[in-house]
Amino acid sequence: MLYLSTRGHPERKHFCDILLEGLAPDGGLYLPEHYPQIDDAALTRLRRVLREQGYAELAFEILSLYIDDIPANDLRALCHKTYTAEIFGTPEIVPLRPLEPGLWLQALSNGPTLAFKDMAMQLLGNLFEYELARRGEELNILGATSGDTGSAAEYAMRGKRGVRVFMTSPHGRMSAFQQAQMFSLQDENIHNIAIEGVFDDCQDIVKAVSNDLAFKRKYKIGTVNSINWARLLAQVVYYFAGYLQATTSNDQKVSFAVPSGNFGNICAGHVARSMGLPIAKLVVATNENDVLDEFFRTGVYRVRASADTHETSSPSMDISKASNFERFVFDLLGRDGARTQALFGEALAREGRFDLSADPHFADAAKRYGFVSGKSTHADRLATIRDTHQRFATTIDTHTADGVKVARQHLGALDVPMIVLETALPIKFAETITEALGHPPARPARFDGIEALPKRVQVMPADVQQVKDYIVRHCD
Ligand SMILES: *Cc1c(COP(=O)(O)O)cnc(C)c1O
Repeated sequence: MLYLSTRGHPERKHFCDILLEGLAPDGGLYLPEHYPQIDDAALTRLRRVLREQGYAELAFEILSLYIDDIPANDLRALCHKTYTAEIFGTPEIVPLRPLEPGLWLQALSNGPTLAFKDMAMQLLGNLFEYELARRGEELNILGATSGDTGSAAEYAMRGKRGVRVFMTSPHGRMSAFQQAQMFSLQDENIHNIAIEGVFDDCQDIVKAVSNDLAFKRKYKIGTVNSINWARLLAQVVYYFAGYLQATTSNDQKVSFAVPSGNFGNICAGHVARSMGLPIAKLVVATNENDVLDEFFRTGVYRVRASADTHETSSPSMDISKASNFERFVFDLLGRDGARTQALFGEALAREGRFDLSADPHFADAAKRYGFVSGKSTHADRLATIRDTHQRFATTIDTHTADGVKVARQHLGALDVPMIVLETALPIKFAETITEALGHPPARPARFDGIEALPKRVQVMPADVQQVKDYIVRHCD
């Protein structure tokens, strides 16, 4: 399998090259040349693999369709080392539990940092260590986080040979628990940089540094942001696992509702669906930062300025533009790299929007690709958390609540079950849970007292040069 850029660059690359690279040289995102198709017989086989051999083996089966430059036995070993009950809390790894008739929650947040990002990041840590050792190279990971990515990356990379992490985050905007999770790590190879700005300022810095090709090469800069294809690929696996757990035969369909920010999680759903997994609808749930809901309702993609990015109680979805969205638009436009370049390149930076409402392709988003959307606000979140607690004795986190709220809007016929992806555990957002329920959520014992631990963090203005200087100083 070879990979291409969404912006039409002619070069094709293998998996392990893009694994360590991040953005394509033309500023586009990598996608496979085609999506391998899972027919009925293959799906039946995967059903048996999950039942008899478990999630790690299912992951190996899916990944091996996309990775041909790691020997099969090595790839299998990496999957089995990653997806264990010890690391992910249950033998099922991503168990389903019923909520109300027709509605399931799929648990994706029982990994080390209690958010779904562990699902991909733990694999990425092992892939990076494997590939860097094989090449005798080192890598400096530069990332941007609004909370969950950063801690997931740091917990996946801590102590790994050949890897340093430089993680930018918006100063003072993460929850106390999230800050404690990240900043309390004392590992030498982990560097926290708190930027005076919002998440998108952090993301812009990462992009600016990555676009400086000479610096990127000299300091071996890589990324673990959701634009990394390997992360997306790892996430494709749990759509299969969710589908296979919710159904007994391949003629059944399910829909997925996904709390969305940078469009990484649901883009993996789009890939799974494009492979032939019988998904009816992909429901995009946003919070008050409704860039994506606006697009799927109107065809207008309008990025927000930092000042118009709301600080919400589902902060991991507080984005002003969705960094993975370009991948879907590329597919939507029939994989037209020149048009994708025209939409997402300088014109978007200049005008801050594009409009596909009059484009015949736009109708395909719903009709052909199954996308629908909805938006949830702080009041919806509180009401949904309260309601779920009262009626089902289940406490859900704020992001998952956005998913449940929007899922209910689209529930429709109950013969197509809806799976809501649970993207974090409530303890990460205890303030809002307390506001909704009058008491804080349960805290897993291993996180007792982490807010009191000593913190390692460097505060900095939103300035690309200062971040570069910091990396240079800490790179030897
Ligand atoms: C990252 C994150 C999201 C958003 O996922 P995207 O892939 O950016 O769309 C939602 N919920 C939680 C808890 C997250 O950490």
